[in-house]
Amino acid sequence: MKWYRKLHWQIILGLILGLLWGLISALAGFNEFTLDFIKPFGTIFITLLKLIAVPLVLASLVAGVTSLNDTASLSRMGGKTVLIYLCTTIFAITIGLVSVNLWEPGKALPEETKIELQETYKDNVGEKEEGAMLVKERRPLDFIVGIVPDNFFKSASENSNMLQVVFVAILLGIGIIKVGGEKGKLLVNVFDSFNDVIIKIVDLIMKTAPYGVFALMAALIVDLAGDDLGKAGDLLYALGAYCLVVVSALILHVLLVYTAMFKIFTKVSLGTFFKAIRPAMLLGFSTSSSSATLPVTMERVEKNLGVEEEVSSFVLPIGATINMDGTSLYQAVAAVFIAQALGMDLTIIQQLTIVLTATLASVGAAGVPGAGIVMLVVVLQAIEVPVEGIALILGVDRILDMCRTTVNITGDAAVALTVASSEGKLGTPNLDD
Ligand code: ASP
Repeated sequence: MKWYRKLHWQIILGLILGLLWGLISALAGFNEFTLDFIKPFGTIFITLLKLIAVPLVLASLVAGVTSLNDTASLSRMGGKTVLIYLCTTIFAITIGLVSVNLWEPGKALPEETKIELQETYKDNVGEKEEGAMLVKERRPLDFIVGIVPDNFFKSASENSNMLQVVFVAILLGIGIIKVGGEKGKLLVNVFDSFNDVIIKIVDLIMKTAPYGVFALMAALIVDLAGDDLGKAGDLLYALGAYCLVVVSALILHVLLVYTAMFKIFTKVSLGTFFKAIRPAMLLGFSTSSSSATLPVTMERVEKNLGVEEEVSSFVLPIGATINMDGTSLYQAVAAVFIAQALGMDLTIIQQLTIVLTATLASVGAAGVPGAGIVMLVVVLQAIEVPVEGIALILGVDRILDMCRTTVNITGDAAVALTVASSEGKLGTPNLDD
């Protein structure tokens, strides 16, 4: 296949052209046109992906669980998955903490910039704080209680209830295994066929990805910069060191932790892994949403990495909700950066508190844009750093959100690959497309 026909190149082209369009539109003053006539196509694209997420998780998870044939392997896989998710998250936070403590980007911030930024974003911080207060008021086990729905249709009508859908799908799968025989077989076939149909629809939606990404990028630049490109430039410059630390630590995490994981548990190289999942990574970057990207992550992990469906359909939807290596790493760097910028030295106990709270905060964060910064309030409050400090980093958050979401998705796919390999459910990667 010619290189320009490959999906990821088309998505990259859409991304670059979208950025250019956004810049030209901000400079030449036709932002209104971009917002009225380009942005809606990006919105439709994301909405389509969200639309397909619940049916996809339900169909593929039921199909996956029923193909396991016994419930013992299901619980073994579940334990393994959660354990690896937890380990990669703790590694991510540690890498973030070490990087930000070594580089100390917060100490380099000019005094006037700090004051100016704090003034600019005071109102926004109030909103984030309210969101986090709601989360903080929860009791420790509310997270588990929340996984069990009292009405499946209510869960299925809200994409943020993905863990409830996962719970019901597993229950349904177990029920089908227990019934077995002709009746069981009938339902297995229904869910298998349903699953194939949904995968075809994902394929169709992905054909429009380059246009969707173009529209999303153009709208993002217009929203970020508005008519005042100079101001956006100043903000980016002032916070460059902080961004650099986050981005390099993210890259370091991917290169160190996932490479080590692949070396120990699989025969797949990091290069092959990236080639297989790059459209999903690009989409995560453009949408800043692990949930919206989930259908594509699942498709690439199954079709191109060779992970069997019973593993991917189980590991990935859970990962999109609870496993966020990028987000937890970012929260650790952001918390220490804010403390540094406000002239506070953190004790070792406070740094350990970051490890604990950032793990919980990333588990609690939804796979949607901006969720990570809302949960950052919880981390800051735990280490007694003023939450107003968030004002310092709000301006660059969207860009870092794109980067951390890419790592969140990469982490989910890496764990799916590892679990599949350890369960003997990994085929040969197919890198044709
Ligand atoms: N946008 C991220 C995600 O969807 C969550 C975050 O804001 O960190 O994975």
